[in-house]
Amino acid sequence: AAIPSNEAGTSDPSTSSSAPTTIRIFSRIRPPKIRSKLSYNPDRHWVTPVQPASDPNDAAARARIGFRVPREQAAGMVNHQKESYEFAFDRVLDTDVSQDEVFDVVAKPVVNSVLEGYNGTIFAYGQTGSGKTYTISGGTATYPERGIIPRSLEYIFKEITKVANFPRSDFHFEVSISYLEIYNETGYDLLDSTREAQRLEDLPKVALQEDSDERIHLRNLSCLPATTTEEALNLLFVGETNRTIAETPSNPASSRSHCLFIVSITSRKEGETRIRRSKLHLVDLAGSERVSRTGIDGLILKEAKYINLSLHYLEQVIVALHEKALGKRAHIPYRNSMMTSVLRDSLGGNCKTVMVATCAVEDELIDESISTCRFAQRVALIANNAMLNEEMDPQLVIARLKREVARLRAELAI
Ligand code: ADP
Ligand code: MG
Repeated sequence: AAIPSNEAGTSDPSTSSSAPTTIRIFSRIRPPKIRSKLSYNPDRHWVTPVQPASDPNDAAARARIGFRVPREQAAGMVNHQKESYEFAFDRVLDTDVSQDEVFDVVAKPVVNSVLEGYNGTIFAYGQTGSGKTYTISGGTATYPERGIIPRSLEYIFKEITKVANFPRSDFHFEVSISYLEIYNETGYDLLDSTREAQRLEDLPKVALQEDSDERIHLRNLSCLPATTTEEALNLLFVGETNRTIAETPSNPASSRSHCLFIVSITSRKEGETRIRRSKLHLVDLAGSERVSRTGIDGLILKEAKYINLSLHYLEQVIVALHEKALGKRAHIPYRNSMMTSVLRDSLGGNCKTVMVATCAVEDELIDESISTCRFAQRVALIANNAMLNEEMDPQLVIARLKREVARLRAELAI
């Protein structure tokens, strides 16, 4: 599926395939913790799987996750107007679904599109402790616990090697990696090798720059080439290490920052003037829990307010996109926060986007899981328009024109 269909003369940028697609939404349930102070009752949540033979366009046939609000806690909860809630998803990944299966269901279709030249985004959204990092990066204890990032890297290089070894294939791929952390509206480069020695305040900041086409560029963000899975995994490791440093008590905790792992892929066929550039964004968002009930103050409150703010801006963008789809508004407030600026293409733009809503099912956490699912329902209404990112390589165009001129000169000389 990953082999680009870059046959001569068939794919002009103006006729590139593009069709509006909605953002696919999945929910994933973290298994309840065995040793935990939180209470757990299996009858407070349920999953209705998607019916295998059902029509994918039939909303009623989609998978569902349901929650029953625990009575004794309802008074302190935001979502206690009703006794139970049910939400539809493209699929619900229950507690027994492995990392391997999550990759196959959630990530593989997006990664295949990126290999074909489309932009792709997978983002995890949910309260702290619900499994965002486990889903995107993975658990660190055992190999099968690897998450979407390492599995995607492995898959990308496997596919590229397959294409390169294809008989008479002359595709060239280039892969490079960036890893961005956004904390308190400031971007930091997780692949910055000088980072370890410095305090957060002293770290170089990644800056947003908008070009005349309103495209966003990130200045001061490393974009490092990788030619093998091992090289790419090593970059991931460097970034994760920098992220762990940022989790010490004097530094920001991971739950209050957003992390974006970006894989840029360029492909070209030998002798062709067209090149395709696509980007895969793998995003681990800040915890979605609301400040009012985290019961914290001082510096931490300021940080928490900031997360809230940037997720609040994300929500505003989602709402605006929905209103735009209904013809009720034109302007989308992407510029309000760094995260929405960076994810601009992923939300209502040129991108195939997938959301994983991570849910915890312990009694005390059900309320936030309901909010997470409610947010996902709004995300599901956004229409994106993914296009093949193909452009002419000016160097190759010039080389071809020179050859043509030489040929014509030779013909005239005869
Ligand atoms: P978040 O990033 O949303 O704050 P984490 O991904 O760190 O949450 O998950 C919290 C804890 O639960 C971690 O110890 C993680 O290993 C564990 N965990 C999360 N999801 C799963 C899962 N699907 N299966 C097993 N353990 C999980
Ligand atoms: Mg996390």
